[in-house]
Amino acid sequence: MNNEFETIIGLEIHVQLNTQSKAFCRDTNVFGLPPNSQVGVVSLAHPGTLPYPNKEQIFSAIKLGLAIGSKINKTSTFDRKNYFYADLPKGYQITQDKTPICVGGQIPIRVGDQTKLIQIHHIHMEEDAGKSIHDQDSAHSLIDINRAGTPLLEIVTEPDLRSGEEVDALMSAIRQLVRYLDISDGNMEQGSMRCDCNISIRPKGQTTLGHRCEVKNLNSMRFAKKAIQYEVQRQISLTQKGESIRQQTLNFNPQTGRTTPIRTKEDAHDYRYFPEPDIPPIVVSQPKIEALKSALPKLPWDYEQAFRSYGLSQKDSVLLAQDLDMAEYYDAFVSAYGQAVAFANLLINQIRPTLSGKIGDYPVSQKYLAEFLELIHDRAINKSLAIKQLLPKMLAQPMVSPKELVKAFSQEKDHHSDQLAEIISNIIAAHPDKVKAYQNGKKGLLGFFMGEVMKQTRGQADPGLAKKGLLDLLDG
Ligand code: ADP
Ligand code: MG
Repeated sequence: MNNEFETIIGLEIHVQLNTQSKAFCRDTNVFGLPPNSQVGVVSLAHPGTLPYPNKEQIFSAIKLGLAIGSKINKTSTFDRKNYFYADLPKGYQITQDKTPICVGGQIPIRVGDQTKLIQIHHIHMEEDAGKSIHDQDSAHSLIDINRAGTPLLEIVTEPDLRSGEEVDALMSAIRQLVRYLDISDGNMEQGSMRCDCNISIRPKGQTTLGHRCEVKNLNSMRFAKKAIQYEVQRQISLTQKGESIRQQTLNFNPQTGRTTPIRTKEDAHDYRYFPEPDIPPIVVSQPKIEALKSALPKLPWDYEQAFRSYGLSQKDSVLLAQDLDMAEYYDAFVSAYGQAVAFANLLINQIRPTLSGKIGDYPVSQKYLAEFLELIHDRAINKSLAIKQLLPKMLAQPMVSPKELVKAFSQEKDHHSDQLAEIISNIIAAHPDKVKAYQNGKKGLLGFFMGEVMKQTRGQADPGLAKKGLLDLLDG
């Protein structure tokens, strides 16, 4: 973008958890229900109600922390973050300030063919606010309290990111990870993952950080990249004009592609954090942490590494490790039947593109798929024929072994070649003068006989077999 300046980005990523109930009460935690239908007295902050922590939220936080190598705080506390807004009935958000549940850790991202480790500052638990809707009524803002109290994890990175592409890669890695851990659906379109982007620039070679601006609530990677691009350009222009960058909180407007200030540091909120008096410290035992750790699935990077070691390319390893279902399915196949590369090709090129649901629901068993690959390997059937004809037959009759299907195949083929032989001998018998002419040297007549065969078989005859059959009789 500009060779004199370096872009520095740190993210605060909000992940909505897929727990049954909300963070501090029993209201259901489901996206997309009719507005204000999931709002009990706690969500509405009726006087005298008390929050009650959700252990699924706590376990989700610990799982994510363990997966990325964070230190888990065995005792962590909730705090109040006070601010006034119509979609926040309590007038404060319950969050973690001083002692978050997870500290440190790192997440590998892929940029081009390089892997880069992004350091995580901490992960804390908090609750979402309700939703204000400003664009449905010209005179009023509408409020939907359903989202208030939705359990969130906030992942705060160190300022380790250097471009929109890296931000994209990190968000994708986190989405993949939370899906592996089954703690969130990771859907950005539904707001299950959003990020605040802290952006600054500095002259190349400088080690101290410049003043940052924070672009709030980006819920699509396309917008995040545009916001970063715009913001970096804005900061560079200001710097080149000799002006200084004011620390600001910004909104990104997708219509204009520009960022606009919400507030500047001078009038920044003082959230008056203080310990949440209604929730005692959260204490987690070492055995519980160990149990959560041993229940973790193998993680994306473990699978990618394993698949590389089976001889797959980087690209194919990444593809097959994309979701846990696929990774487990592929790994189980290789453990049972080997054929790692052949099966990866079959899975990526033939099976995956036709899947409508999960790979686990694929109608053909792994045993029969292994048999299928063996038939190709042993040259019992030609590969392209196997893919074009045998595989569809297996799908149509998933309970019949491919060996049986191939037998039926070759019987059919024998039948076809008997038919072909008969057609050829009839043609020879019908054209004695042309046969003589051919045998006297007019070899070009072979084309005429081929034409006849094709006509009578409506183009279905295998040309190689047809030619061989004709020559056998003509050259006799
Ligand atoms: P606050 O608590 O005021 O939001 P933090 O220091 O906790 O500020 O930082 C929040 C986020 O901003 C972190 O992701 C951090 O990496 C990032 N960040 C901090 N300083 C900078 C900077 N100069 N440039 C870019 N990102 C920054
Ligand atoms: Mg912040």
